[in-house]
Amino acid sequence: MSPIEQCDVLIIGAGPAGAVAAALLRQQGRQVLVLEREQFPRFSIGESLLPQSMEFLEQAGMLQTVVEAGFQFKNGAAFVQGNRYTDFDFRDKHCAGWGTTYQVQRADFDQLLAQQAERQGAVVRYRHTVTAVDLSAQRQRTTVRHPEGHDYAVESRFLLDASGFGRVLPRLLQLETPSGFPVRGAIFTHIADGIPSGSFDRNKIRITVHPQHRDVWYWLIPFANGRCSIGVVAESSFLAVTPGTETERLRELVGEDPALRDLLQHASWDTPARQIQGYAANVKSLWGDGYALLGNAGEFLDPIFSSGMTIAMKSAQLAAAVLERQFAGIATDWEADYAVPLKQGVDTFRTFVDSWYAGGFQDVIFHEQQEPQIRRMISSILAGYAWDRSNPYVSESKRRLATLEQLCA
Ligand code: FAD
Repeated sequence: MSPIEQCDVLIIGAGPAGAVAAALLRQQGRQVLVLEREQFPRFSIGESLLPQSMEFLEQAGMLQTVVEAGFQFKNGAAFVQGNRYTDFDFRDKHCAGWGTTYQVQRADFDQLLAQQAERQGAVVRYRHTVTAVDLSAQRQRTTVRHPEGHDYAVESRFLLDASGFGRVLPRLLQLETPSGFPVRGAIFTHIADGIPSGSFDRNKIRITVHPQHRDVWYWLIPFANGRCSIGVVAESSFLAVTPGTETERLRELVGEDPALRDLLQHASWDTPARQIQGYAANVKSLWGDGYALLGNAGEFLDPIFSSGMTIAMKSAQLAAAVLERQFAGIATDWEADYAVPLKQGVDTFRTFVDSWYAGGFQDVIFHEQQEPQIRRMISSILAGYAWDRSNPYVSESKRRLATLEQLCA
């Protein structure tokens, strides 16, 4: 019988959370094994980065590769409803730090990050699926399904679950709790958009609010190659009403907004659309003895503010910092040093997500007389700086936003 493999940290999943965590732990000299179920490149939804994530990529030694990859430059977000339009330039914001970033095809982006983690010495194994964990001993024992069908075991000093919607540990350890959000879904695809150059700002994600239903919205995320990601988000019951294939339903729903229909009148719908639903998720705890949950394996709120990858990378940064102290023999408190600070930013986003769907935040951003200083504070949050407590819309987000909603109603 072959000896059980050993490593310092085993990471489940090579998405942004797993790759960034792997690189940061390698910088500390840890032995890192990343097990990824899929063969990369693989499709993933969620293509719009926020500028805050550039800081995490920089720390992980991945920024230069990302900059040189030629992804679509992004400097903000545009919001449209009927004939109302507003846009935020993230370079004009309350806090210091990156004001620009990229809109990325995730197949390429995730592969780049995983390759960068490998260059820094992490071992990444593709098509290796984690199927079970035993946390009863001092070293965690993880069971892995090899691509050829047999199982093997790995022992680690610590386990990071970065399995995204796979939610490996939440399922295996019964950590899942329902999300407070209604069950929403998205239908999406990539298209050759055919938008004439100059008629549209490709440097921004464009969010369109449905002309009749304020809680239904579309994203349009342009890429650098004349293609874009297009999707619609609504409660699952709303999406279920439109008949047909996913592509037919998406085209039908896009057609309900005249401006979006016009913008995409020359588009080539060359890739079958897909639907995902019930993605909002939560857990009882983001950590336990010998493990922590990163990114979507912990909590996922909602796609409206493109916060998913930023939260995933932030979780990797926080967890790597706690592990550095833990491995150095310094007492650590995962609740105080990991869960609480991570949730602070997540809760800021949650306040804005709740307000978006209730309509209040839509009134705020479309309001015609905006105070420049407040606008810069909102711009900071839309740029992902949801942990910056110098911003009153972070430190007192609920109260401040409620007041602003009343003023703008
Ligand atoms: P993932 O990127 O999902 O990576 C997890 C990896 O774990 C996967 O590669 C998977 O194959 C692997 N894995 C799963 N199970 C196992 C297993 N048993 N063993 C081994 N490996 C396993 N975010 C943004 O930042 N911008 C956006 O514009 C955006 N739009 C979105 C739109 C929609 C409709 C949705 C649903 C989400 C969107 N998101 C967006 C969120 C974004 O997709 C995620 O937050 C982000 O991918 C999370 O990264 P992660 O590393 O936690 O997980």
